[in-house]
Amino acid sequence: MDYTALRKLMVEEQLIPRGIRNQRVLDVFYKVERHKFIPEEQRDNAYADFPIPIGAGQTISQPYIVALMTECLDLSGGEKILEIGTGSGYQAAILAQLSKEVYSIERFELLAKKAKMLFDELGYKNIKLKIGDGTLGWGEEAMFDRIIITAASPEIPSPLIEQLKDGGKLILPLGEILSQVLTLFEKKDNKLYSHEICGCMFVPLVGKFGLLKND
Ligand code: SAM
Repeated sequence: MDYTALRKLMVEEQLIPRGIRNQRVLDVFYKVERHKFIPEEQRDNAYADFPIPIGAGQTISQPYIVALMTECLDLSGGEKILEIGTGSGYQAAILAQLSKEVYSIERFELLAKKAKMLFDELGYKNIKLKIGDGTLGWGEEAMFDRIIITAASPEIPSPLIEQLKDGGKLILPLGEILSQVLTLFEKKDNKLYSHEICGCMFVPLVGKFGLLKND
């Protein structure tokens, strides 16, 4: 299968027509080999316009949503980012190309170990990975310029608000199971200002300050 051609089509048919404009973001989507983050039996669909199961009942988001969240974070290259929900590792790999360092937390050991192996194999040295409850944040490494939560929650877990720098940005699917709005927050003078982006559907954030306490 010609994955390079499929990647080009993904950018040109899914991202650009829907309004992704940031050239640095588009360049990374041309480059990062999404199929490597997808289980082998699903690889034929690696560049398709829908989410794909990655094991442990979880999914990798559709390419457009990954691109939209990335573009909203408005990265210039020097940022320290916290990601909650490593999943396949694809979003972290995209962010790692556009920032200084990415700290990513995944609650499923199976997914975290697979992602870690891939980061090592592909040479990502600026991604640090931790297994655990991301709703608690990563206190030892705080503060963060950007925080991205890739699972749904009706509110921002309070430790993550505390770990976001002033002037920083945080994005998450805000809402309940099956009904969320992708929402971007900016912290200014220690107040949060929100901006709704679009409707979306993510798996729930599961943890002490999440949508579900346990699944
Ligand atoms: N960013 C991922 C990618 O690029 O493949 C997609 C993430 S998937 C939509 C959401 C992930 O969040 C799942 O892997 C799930 O296990 C994880 N998750 C849910 N609650 C979590 C929590 N409290 N801490 C860490 N990870 C969590």
